[in-house]
Amino acid sequence: MSTPLCQGCGACCCNAAENVAAGVRTYVEIDDPRSRLLTRADLRNRYVTEIDGAPYLRLDGAGEVQRCAALRGKLGFSVSCVVYTHRPAPCRRVEPGDRECLRARAERGLG
Ligand code: SF4
Ligand code: SF4
Repeated sequence: MSTPLCQGCGACCCNAAENVAAGVRTYVEIDDPRSRLLTRADLRNRYVTEIDGAPYLRLDGAGEVQRCAALRGKLGFSVSCVVYTHRPAPCRRVEPGDRECLRARAERGLG
């Protein structure tokens, strides 16, 4: 199997099905207080939400597919992250082809 390309995917930029089913929207925590996502008001207002006093990436959508507000494009075809240089640590940890990647892709029918 070849390594998937992120620019044609975006699956891990969506809330996991398990979270959606449980009504959990604490998707990706922004745990670095120096993050531009927190220190820049324009980025914070658009891409961050506070849940129980902690900052998380905002999710768009209330149905089965809840996408990070910073994701642009069509899932599985062509996507990009508009805060790529400022993306939080959990976004940087996912590697194409690793377990989290494959789980996310399978949930979006991209397995
Ligand atoms: S699920 Fe995998 S291939 Fe898709 S964007 Fe995430 S790391 Fe890249
Ligand atoms: S910040 Fe970027 S990399 Fe992280 S989930 Fe959102 S769109 Fe994906």
